[in-house]
Amino acid sequence: MREGLEAGLKSKGCTIKMLPSFVYHTPDGTERGKYLALDLGGTNFRAMLVRFKRQKYRLYHKIYTIPLEIMQGTGEELFDHLAQCVCDFLDYMGLKKVRLPAGFTFSFPCQQSGIDTGTLVSWTKGFKATDCVGEDVVSMLREAIKRRNEFDLDIVALVNDTVGTMMSCAYEDPKCEVGMIAGTGSNLCYMEELKNIEKLEQSNGILKTNEQTSEGEESEAAVKSDLKMCVNTEWGGLGDDRCLEDIITPYDAEVDIHSVNPGKQRFEKLTSGMYLGEIVRQVLLDLTRRGLLFKGHVTETLKTPGIFETKYLSQIESDRLALLQVRSILQQLGLRGTCDDSIIVKEVCGAVSRRAAQMCGAGLAAVVDKIREDRGLERLSTTVGVDGALYKLHPHFSQVLKETVGVMAPHCDVTFLPSEEGSGKGAALIAAVVRQKQEI
Ligand code: ADP
Ligand code: MG
Repeated sequence: MREGLEAGLKSKGCTIKMLPSFVYHTPDGTERGKYLALDLGGTNFRAMLVRFKRQKYRLYHKIYTIPLEIMQGTGEELFDHLAQCVCDFLDYMGLKKVRLPAGFTFSFPCQQSGIDTGTLVSWTKGFKATDCVGEDVVSMLREAIKRRNEFDLDIVALVNDTVGTMMSCAYEDPKCEVGMIAGTGSNLCYMEELKNIEKLEQSNGILKTNEQTSEGEESEAAVKSDLKMCVNTEWGGLGDDRCLEDIITPYDAEVDIHSVNPGKQRFEKLTSGMYLGEIVRQVLLDLTRRGLLFKGHVTETLKTPGIFETKYLSQIESDRLALLQVRSILQQLGLRGTCDDSIIVKEVCGAVSRRAAQMCGAGLAAVVDKIREDRGLERLSTTVGVDGALYKLHPHFSQVLKETVGVMAPHCDVTFLPSEEGSGKGAALIAAVVRQKQEI
């Protein structure tokens, strides 16, 4: 992971993409006003209105599902659908006549060239709408809004959910400079020193953005030396050069082959909610075929992809649950077994989720230790903002994650802060930070 992070900072086209976010500051508490936040994450689209007032905020929201045929239809259909959802939300809030500043949380890898533009590098997490890869997703949304011709928005920031999470936690704790997601996908961002993002030097003079202060005489190097920028690592791509082959099992290989993006996002496929249940199913299938489980009966249910959702891992691994209850969960899934079978299933779930948490912990250890070394510190004390259902709802994931970081980065004191409304409050905060800088 550490090597992957360093390589991605130097050049484009690495497995860990290290995408610049053009977010230079965490919030300082002076953020004010009303902002719209739009969140296209993994499973849903959320439209939110966020109001900041004296270190407090209020958030109103509505959730819209993304039908599978739209996730996998054309880009125009997808963005028209988003525009329709925003329209409905503005109607609902009675704000259709106002041109609000908006932050657009779009949680897929985007190559940004500024805070409000970014081209989609590739879809992840089961999306595959056509005609989007290589396109500027902010323009696509603006065009869909124009086509609809019913309301207007001022989209000021394109936001990755990791960055939104970091920002929303930094609003509560100024020591927060890392954002992490363990939900449908797995990803992380952190504040990197601008001088370390070597690949930025080759591209446009990014320092000409609103960062150039009035003391123009300062040399570029001097300005750059204390500037930071949040980097969206897209660490889920670790292993796409096969460097994880020692860890990847035949079960992982099966899951990968049957995914919409074989060979891609190998780290994500070991660590995130979209895949853990499917890995468990592959193990159960193998154990059953070998006659070690369910009396060797391979049922149609067990052969059905997606039947074993990650939320069942959380239920089955819950300490409060008796074996009989595990058995009844399995029965509801159409998997009839004995109590011994339940013990084995619970063991399998535990192994798969523990490995996921340990892999994330190892990745996070690489990040915080890099920050510590870059600053020449003996000890680093830092806060990591975290979001995602796997982190928040699984009974052991967060604990194992924490323990692993403790073991693998012993010189770092890491506090974990579960984010409150990361993609909503965070996106609105980015919009607010950008707006305030523009006003200055
Ligand atoms: P997203 O990552 O799509 O923005 P979430 O953070 O809510 O959204 O994550 C949703 C994913 O988390 C689901 O796709 C599922 O894989 C997983 N998940 C949902 N419920 C649970 C649960 N109770 N325990 C563990 N994982 C869960
Ligand atoms: Mg999310």
